[in-house]
Amino acid sequence: MDRKVRVRFAPSPTGGLHLGGVRTVLFNYLFAKQSGGDFIVRIEDTDQNRFVEGAEQYIFDTLAWCGLQPDESPAHGGPYAPYRQSERKQNYRKYAEQLVKDGYAYYAFDTTEELEARRKQIPNFQYSHATRMQQQNSLSLDEATAKEKMNGPHVIRIKMPENETVQFTDMIRGEVSFHTSQVDDKVLLKADGMPTYHLAVVVDDYLMKISHAFRGEEWLPSAPVHILLWKWLGWENEMPEWAHLPLILKPDGNGKLSKRDGDRLGFPVFAMDWTDPKTGETTTGFRERGFLPEAFVNLLALLGWNDGTDTELFTLDELVKQFSMSRVHKGGAKFDYEKAKWFNHEWIRRLPASALRPAVSELLQHAGIQLADGNLLDKVIELVKDRCTLLPDFIQQAGFFFQSPAEIDTAAIKPKWDESKNLFFTELVRAYQLCGFWDAAELEKEFKELAAVNKLKPGELMLPLRIMLVGGKFGPGVFDIAGLIGKAETIRRMEHVLGLLV
Ligand code: GLU
Repeated sequence: MDRKVRVRFAPSPTGGLHLGGVRTVLFNYLFAKQSGGDFIVRIEDTDQNRFVEGAEQYIFDTLAWCGLQPDESPAHGGPYAPYRQSERKQNYRKYAEQLVKDGYAYYAFDTTEELEARRKQIPNFQYSHATRMQQQNSLSLDEATAKEKMNGPHVIRIKMPENETVQFTDMIRGEVSFHTSQVDDKVLLKADGMPTYHLAVVVDDYLMKISHAFRGEEWLPSAPVHILLWKWLGWENEMPEWAHLPLILKPDGNGKLSKRDGDRLGFPVFAMDWTDPKTGETTTGFRERGFLPEAFVNLLALLGWNDGTDTELFTLDELVKQFSMSRVHKGGAKFDYEKAKWFNHEWIRRLPASALRPAVSELLQHAGIQLADGNLLDKVIELVKDRCTLLPDFIQQAGFFFQSPAEIDTAAIKPKWDESKNLFFTELVRAYQLCGFWDAAELEKEFKELAAVNKLKPGELMLPLRIMLVGGKFGPGVFDIAGLIGKAETIRRMEHVLGLLV
C-alpha cells in the first residue's frame, strides 16, 4: 500500500524542550521532507495536572528557531484540526466503549483510596491479569453491582491478555517482541472523560492518518499496548511504522541525559532558555548560550545517526537528502559538550558575516557597544569569526574594534618594558602619523623596518602593540586590527598606553 508519508511530533507541554525532544522533531522532519510528506505537531495535553503555562508556545518558538516548521499544528492549522488533544475530548470515549463491548477493556470503579491501600498492602502492586479479579470492576463484580457502580465515577482499563506475545517491526531495532504478562491494565479513559495518553495517541494517529510514528526509546515499553489497541480497534492495516529513537546519554554514558546533568556539569540541555512559571527558575538553553540554530540542528542529527562516511557537517537541506532511518543506531548516543561546541565553532566559521551579523550586532549592543558602521561590523566578523566558539565570544573578539578597551593589561608588558621599547613605540607613532596609505600590509612593513633600524626583534614588540590596541592577549592579527580601526584610533590607543607605561 502506497501511503502518503505523515509523521508527527506529539509532545506533552510540561516544560522546556530537552535536546532529545528536538532530535525527535528533527528526525520526523527530515523523514517527512525527503519523501514529500507532512510533518505534524500534535499537543498531547490530556493530563491536565501536568499542564504548564507557556510550554506549548515554547515548543513552537523552539521549532521556529531551528527552522523545523510543521505543516500542521495548533499554531499552523490543518485539515485534521484541532491538533490539541484537550480540544478533541469528545472523540475518544466511543473507542474506549467499543473496546469494552468487544471484550478488550472493562470498567473499573476502584477509588483512589482503595488503590492506595492496595499499593501499601502489596509491594509493586500492578493492576493486571493477576490482580484484576480482586479489584472493583465490571469483570469481577456481578452485573447488577457493576451497573449500579456505573452511576458513580469510573475509568476504562485495557484488559491485557495474560499470555500472549506482541510482535512488531521497528525501523531501527528490527523485530521486537513483548510478553503481555509483563504489562499492566492501563487506564484508557479517565473518570473525567479525558483519555489517557495510550488511548489518545492511537486514536489520533489513526484519525490523522499518521504513516510513521517516531519517538524516544522511553516509549518502547508502551508499544505493546498501542499495537494491541490498533489491532483491537480494527485498524491494523493502517497502523504506522514504528521507530524508537536511541536515548541521549550522559557524557560518561551512564544513563539518560537529564536537565540536572546539565546543571551539574555546566552545559545546556534545553533548546532555549526556559523559565519555570511556578518557581521562576530559569534553565539556560543552547540558543542563549550562543549556539547557532544551524549548529544545533547539525549536532542533534549526529546524535545517533551518520551518513556512513566521516562527514560531520551538514546543512538542513543536506540532512534532508542524506538522512535515513536505517542508519540510526540502536545504542544510546553519548552527549559530548566539547563536541557540541566544535560544531558551533565550525558553523560560525562557515557562515558569511551577513548571516552572523544580526546575532552578533544584538550581542554587542546588549553589551553596551555602539556600532556606528555596519560595514565595519561585517569586516570585523570575517576577521575574528575563526576565534569564536560561542556567539558571546564576539563580545571580546570584536568589541574593541568599536570602542577602546576599558581595561589594559599593562602587567603583561611591564616586566619587559625598557627605554629602547619606549623609544621604538614613540617613533612608530610618528611613522604611523606620517603614513599615507593605511593598510595592514603597509603598517606591518613600517613596523618591521623600524624594528630592524632599532635592532629590536619584531616578535618582542608585537605583544605590547597588541595590548595597546585591544587591551589584552587576544584578537586577530594586530596589523589587521590597526588597519580596520583606522589611523586616528590606532595612534590614540598607542599614545594612551605609552602614557600609562612611563
Ligand atoms: N506525548 C508523548 C510525549 O510526551 C508522545 C509519545 C509518542 O510520540 O507516542 O513524548
